Amino acid sequence: MIDFSLPDNIKEQNQRLFMVASHFMRPIAREMDDKEHTKPWDFINMTWQVTSSQMKRRVKRLEKELAGEEVDKSGGNSFGTRGYMPLIYMIEMLSWGDAGIYLCLPTAALAGSAIDAVGTLEQKNRFLPRFSKGKPKWGAMAITEPHAGSDTSAIRTTATLDHETNEWILNGEKSFVTSGLMAAKDSDGILVVWATIDASAGRRGIKSFVIEANTPGMEVLKLEKKHGIRVSDTATIKLENCRIPYENILGNPEVQDKKEKKGFQGAMRTFDASRPLVAASAIGIGRAALEFTKEALEKEGITIRYNAPKHVLTSIERDFMDMEANLKAAWLLTLKATWMMDQRLPNTIESSMAKVKAGKAVTLVTQKAVELLGPLGYSCDDLIEKWMRDGKINDLYEGTGQINTLVVARRILGYDRNQLK
Ligand SMILES: Cc1cc2nc3c(=O)[nH]c(=O)nc-3n(C[C@H](O)[C@H](O)[C@H](O)COP(=O)(O)OP(=O)(O)OC[C@H]3O[C@@H](n4cnc5c(N)ncnc54)[C@H](O)[C@@H]3O)c2cc1C
Repeated sequence: MIDFSLPDNIKEQNQRLFMVASHFMRPIAREMDDKEHTKPWDFINMTWQVTSSQMKRRVKRLEKELAGEEVDKSGGNSFGTRGYMPLIYMIEMLSWGDAGIYLCLPTAALAGSAIDAVGTLEQKNRFLPRFSKGKPKWGAMAITEPHAGSDTSAIRTTATLDHETNEWILNGEKSFVTSGLMAAKDSDGILVVWATIDASAGRRGIKSFVIEANTPGMEVLKLEKKHGIRVSDTATIKLENCRIPYENILGNPEVQDKKEKKGFQGAMRTFDASRPLVAASAIGIGRAALEFTKEALEKEGITIRYNAPKHVLTSIERDFMDMEANLKAAWLLTLKATWMMDQRLPNTIESSMAKVKAGKAVTLVTQKAVELLGPLGYSCDDLIEKWMRDGKINDLYEGTGQINTLVVARRILGYDRNQLK
């Protein structure tokens, strides 16, 4: 039976995070957006305590697994056993507070998803504990290159094995890396980088590698000036003869033969874990806009009549219900994709569906909010115009809406990438 009741731990988490989001994030959201790239250090230092203790719990479980001990996987309810479910609730609430500031939080972020999805237990144990110790640290994932975005098979960054020293030597340029500066230079974080070990093998040659911060040969070239999520740093990173230990390759180091698709699919599993997280962030922004709109309409004496027959509804009421329905549908898809992830079930279709729907829903909801509220929506006195700018990113990164639609269509129809482009 499907059980939609929230377990107590998530309820309590929501209450705590609501306080954080409403009292500490909302009040600084405008200032941080105006200042761009200036980090909210007071907030970061405060939340580091929380994020690092969550990571500590995850690391403890890993240590047990590594030691071959039995790990308690009983969730006690229909919610997950692997820990992604509380995470998406956390991301939704913090993005409701402010998505840009949430992205600045010191966590393993997508680097953590990549290591979790593809790394061995030994790699998880080597790289993840750092996110629960000492000063704040960041993780980042670098796939995109100036000439390779949606088409990841066009990646030109190379990783060559130096057989004498048993090190990988990485060369190339990565662009649009979220938290790239913090992960590569300004903390002892990590960067997960996609590179090819055999350009002639196309997608089969692409692997992911972990580079530790401040490794010689890794330079941050620039930070993007952006339309939204402006407080989050988005970096271009150059790799020039950047040497890393052989053991830092994630997954199988062999190039599989043509029939064996598992190599690249392994790397792609990262997206199955990361797309629901992006969807949750989109939904948090959308909910902020929806709630603000409802309150503003109510101040003008407009209440939404949910029980009224369709033919008597005003166009504002219909628009509002449409916004709400889109957001709810996106949230249900996100819950399903996350639940499957926690159960370690294959969730590629569900992850991409959640991401497509949430990216479109937040775009619709925030644009409609600006439209319905007129000058109030467009003015910088409130945050509606900012939510419209911030929300759009969720339809772009971690695979654009079009690319995720293709992923879903190919899986449902049973077509490969050559049959459906
Ligand atoms: C703020 C920000 C943060 C980012 N953070 C990261 C990060 O942390 N790590 C990282 O690796 N990347 C990151 N990215 C990059 C992001 O993932 C890419 O921008 C995205 O994948 C699209 O790639 P592209 O920009 O090269 O666009 P293109 O691939 O050139 O696409 C351009 C347009 O064509 C469409 N299109 C392309 N191919 C098809 C097709 N086959 N069918 C239909 N439509 C198609 C796309 O949907 C898009 O609308 C970030 C980007 C931004 C803006």
